[in-house]
Amino acid sequence: MKLATVGSVAFDAIETPFGKTDKIVGGAGTYIALASSFFVKQQSLISVVGEDFPQEVLAELESKGVDISGVEIKHGEKTFFWSGRYHNDLNSRDTLVTELNVLADFKPVVPAQAQNAPFLMLGNLSPDVQLSVIQQMQQRPQLIAMDTMNFWMDIALDSLKETLKHIDVLIINDEEARQLSGVYSLRKAANIIREMGPSILIIKKGEHGALLFHESNMFYAPALPLEEVFDPTGAGDTFAGGFMGYLAAADRIDFDNMKRAIIAGSALASFCVEKFGTQRLKEVTHPELQARMQEFVSLSTFQL
Ligand code: AMP
Repeated sequence: MKLATVGSVAFDAIETPFGKTDKIVGGAGTYIALASSFFVKQQSLISVVGEDFPQEVLAELESKGVDISGVEIKHGEKTFFWSGRYHNDLNSRDTLVTELNVLADFKPVVPAQAQNAPFLMLGNLSPDVQLSVIQQMQQRPQLIAMDTMNFWMDIALDSLKETLKHIDVLIINDEEARQLSGVYSLRKAANIIREMGPSILIIKKGEHGALLFHESNMFYAPALPLEEVFDPTGAGDTFAGGFMGYLAAADRIDFDNMKRAIIAGSALASFCVEKFGTQRLKEVTHPELQARMQEFVSLSTFQL
């Protein structure tokens, strides 16, 4: 198993200026696994769903090389449900409903075949739950990445700081980086956050791309300006899944590969937002992905 991911598998109901959905399949773990499956043929997803979750969706993940033996199905219980409404700019959203259901007392169990995975992705969950997954690994993975959000900074800062000591890559947005570091300059924030544990920091800036910091190196990846953004849900998770999947497949974690991995994540995220939920991500072909990665090259190379 190249990559192990822990993250939510969920039902989402989404409202954007272009329309709304009934309950559709979402969840950070779902987006991460779908995105990384473009690069990694053997990966494990660790999550929990209720008995209301469609078996076909799990089977579809399995068909893409995702081992789902770590996805617990809780009989008599309901799947995590999240609902959000995007504002007209599509950059901000309000959470309308969060029904934790099976996620309320989620205690992930890493299956034996995933305990030696060299790459570990911790989707946005409580920092204690994220740490419990690291502790179940038989040997320290080569690369541990994690996502988090301001909610955990507000209610569980001490636990978050403890988990940060055990990881290599933190993937957060600019607002979260400012809150975690207490400073406005993202360059200063990057130094402060990297002193907390992760040697690599990725700061996502939504439609303005992402910054990568490692040692004294810095890289800026643009986001592809799209004619239409339909639904941004899961774009951050898709980015993280693409990044980790690319690195796990390349098996070399140098700065140049990290740059390529960021472009892979950005390209997949640019597809993700083109339709509601996971729909577009499931249709993308490898040639389409290659072509879009090439667009990023054209977008940002120049000669002096
Ligand atoms: P993103 O748009 O990248 O922030 O991710 C959205 C996904 O995160 C949705 O598919 C939700 O199901 C999932 N999600 C929302 N809130 C939570 C939460 N509190 N814990 C875990 N997953 C969540």
